Amino acid sequence: MIARLVAEHPDAVIALRFRDPLELLVSVMLSAQTTDVTVNRVTEWLFRKYRRPEDYLAVPLEELERDLRPTGTFRQKARNVRGAMAMLLEEFDGEVPTRLEDLVRLPGVGRKTANVVASERGATQGIVVDTHVRRLSQRLGFTRQEDPVKIEADLKRLVPRADWARFPHLLIWHGRRVCSARSPRCEDCVLADLCPSARVVPEPAAAAVAVPSRPRA
Ligand code: SF4
Repeated sequence: MIARLVAEHPDAVIALRFRDPLELLVSVMLSAQTTDVTVNRVTEWLFRKYRRPEDYLAVPLEELERDLRPTGTFRQKARNVRGAMAMLLEEFDGEVPTRLEDLVRLPGVGRKTANVVASERGATQGIVVDTHVRRLSQRLGFTRQEDPVKIEADLKRLVPRADWARFPHLLIWHGRRVCSARSPRCEDCVLADLCPSARVVPEPAAAAVAVPSRPRA
């Protein structure tokens, strides 16, 4: 499945734009409940104004809130970003840590955000589980769990360690392009012959038949 998804989505990488670990951390924190496109639009100028952890603490909270407003839930995000910056300065010499157990201590940083930050820095310690990864993992029969931590545990048992970083990107892009929440396009899916949830596609004037497998590259 991984090989097929790699062939189908060779461009499956993180969509957020960042130049260093601090920008990565802030981008991922801002991406909650909004689109990567919106975050990139905001951070394009945000990162010109805020370059170091100190910069986020040097402005009044209301100013940071205003700057983050387009990303939604901006009051909470502003509080979390400031809290994270303060902890970076107090406990990590102003550097973004790479260990999951350190990252999840930062205000507003949950396991998903921590996994993204660690993986993008080449220090993969787990598998990112977002809404796409959860949905596709369930549909593909990798897990029966609902809780992201339990889903991640199931995936870590199934996915080869070397693929932990790219695996979620493959599912995310496949989820966006083919296996959407509302109307999965099983008829165009390279995993259809392997997927226990492949939809039965009705044929005109005939009984419904299972989705045929496609020739593989
Ligand atoms: S066959 Fe259908 S349900 Fe299964 S992964 Fe592909 S699009 Fe999703």
